[in-house]
This record gives sequence, structure tokens and C-alpha cells, in this order.
Amino acid sequence: MLKVENVTKYYGDFKAVDNLSFEVKPGEIFGLLGVNGAGKTTTFRMIMGLLDMTEGSITLDGKKIDYSVTDKIGFLTEERSLLTKLTVKEQAIYYGVLKGMKEEQIIKRLKELLEKFEIPEYLDKKIKELSKGNQQKVQFITAIINNPKLLILDEPFSGLDPFNVELFKKEIVEMSKAGSMIIFSSHRMEHVELFCKKLVVLMNGKSVLAGELKKIKQQYRKKNILIKGEIEPDKIKKIKGVVSVINKADEYEVKIESEDIVEDVFKYVSKCNNITKFSVEEPSLNEIFVAKVGESYEK
Ligand code: ATP
Repeated sequence: MLKVENVTKYYGDFKAVDNLSFEVKPGEIFGLLGVNGAGKTTTFRMIMGLLDMTEGSITLDGKKIDYSVTDKIGFLTEERSLLTKLTVKEQAIYYGVLKGMKEEQIIKRLKELLEKFEIPEYLDKKIKELSKGNQQKVQFITAIINNPKLLILDEPFSGLDPFNVELFKKEIVEMSKAGSMIIFSSHRMEHVELFCKKLVVLMNGKSVLAGELKKIKQQYRKKNILIKGEIEPDKIKKIKGVVSVINKADEYEVKIESEDIVEDVFKYVSKCNNITKFSVEEPSLNEIFVAKVGESYEK
């Protein structure tokens, strides 16, 4: 298990991470979220042992993270960190050896992964000759070459087309099922929502929202009702507990204070004509995030 306990990091006088705690168990995919500058990269670097924390402790399976443990960690950084003059094979060997693997073991695993990611022909290609998306694949493959127990993924889908996003997702889910701990960071809430059962949202280095996604959604009492048909939005707006009615393409989204209001809205809608849809939805993580953080996330 990865345990981050009461971690604080100062850069000079500036507090970048403020008393942060969370745990990631084997098989879990954990979301670490936050707007730009919230402290995610600083946290990742401290977990990796690349940066000293000011206070607190970080342990993996009860041990402090040092060189003996980093062999079991994989890190996909947001910025590309490929050795572009090398071939895919040379680079994998370089990183694999750093992780304590033997050359034949590295090549066997690399070939399997290139097959999985549908680029077996790139084994001996120079990295600089590959497209952006394929470079991202190579970077991901390099991060998991050692089959890490703990995998840190900082914006893993940047530059990928939807087809390749699916390939990545499949591999990430497979790794978690095989028992890896995965920390996932992304600005794209819909990705986080699909994967992560647990998460922490950082703002100015502090956790502002934390726990199981399901519980977070339950506790956030607001709901949305989607309606298709001939309604008069102004009449719905007048119902007590209705926050807003938004016309979205061919349907209306009615935001309500809590589930208790559903019945009142339904009473009105049942008298309207041509109703083809009435569904009560939980708010998206993005909506909860924006409400909590108080600013648009998709900047
Ligand atoms: P992004 O999503 O933009 O990558 P982040 O959540 O990863 O952001 P960090 O890079 O961890 O954020 O930065 C957290 C805060 O610490 C920011 O205000 C940043 O300016 C500051 N910071 C980061 N590195 C340093 C440093 N070496 N010296 C001083 N301040 C720093």
C-alpha cells in the first residue's frame, strides 16, 4: 500500500503542498486532481523520492521510498522525457537497466508491449522519427517496462486519439486487476470518472474534496433531470428547489437542489405533451469539481 501521511512541502516560504494524506491499495486506481499549480507534480515528485518533503511521510508497503523501492515504481510524466536520438529498443534497455532488469527480460517485455500497442514495427526505429501519439505510446511502454507495483500517470492521454486512449485504458485497467497501484492525474474529468473509485482534489496544495467517488456524488445532493418533450422552461424554473433549466440541443437539463424535488418536476412534466425522456442523473465529477473549486476547469 502507498501511504501519504500529513505531507507538506515548502519551496522557500511558499507552501506548495499542505498537510496532504491519502492511501492507495493494490488494485486501486486513484485520482489526484487539481487545477494548474495545485501541487500534483510536486506530490508525484515527492512520492518518487525526487524531491524531499518538508514534513510528513510517504511509504510504500511500509518502507520509505528510496532506490531499493523505486525499481518497483513507474512514472509517466506530463512532459515528454524520451531520449529521442535512441531507438525504441535502446531506450527501453536504458530505462529497464536503471530499474534493475536484465537485457533479455527487457526485450521480451518490450516486444509484448509493442504488440499490445500495435506498433511492433517500431522496435528499431529512432524515437524522433515517430509521430507524437506513437512517442506517447513509447513513453507509456517505458514507464511500465518493469511491470511496476506503483504506477504514476500524469496526464497519460495527452496527444492521443480516441482509439489509442482506449488501448491505454485497457492496459491500465489490466494492470490494476493484476494488483498494481495506480495514481492517475488528468484535467479531463470524464477520464477520471471512468477509472477512479477514489480521489483527492487539490487546491493551493490542500485537499478540498477526497474519498470514494460514489460517496462524493451521494453527498453532493444536487441532481440533474434530463427531459425531452414540449415543456415550458419558465414554469419549471418556478418550482421550489429548481436551480436552473438549460436548453441543450434537443433536451432540457434541469438542475435541482436535491432528489426531493424530482417528484414536483415530474408532476408538472407528466401534464406536458410528447415527453420522450425523463431521467434523473447524478452530476458529473466536473460539475462537482467546478462547484467546489469555484472556477471553470476547462481553461
Ligand atoms: P500543473 O497542472 O500545471 O502541472 P501542478 O498541480 O502539477 O500544476 P506543481 O507543479 O506541483 O502544480 O506546483 C505547485 C505550486 O508550486 C505552483 O504554485 C508552482 O508555481 C510552485 N512550484 C513548483 N515547483 C517550484 C519550485 N521548484 N520552486 C518554487 N515554486 C515551485
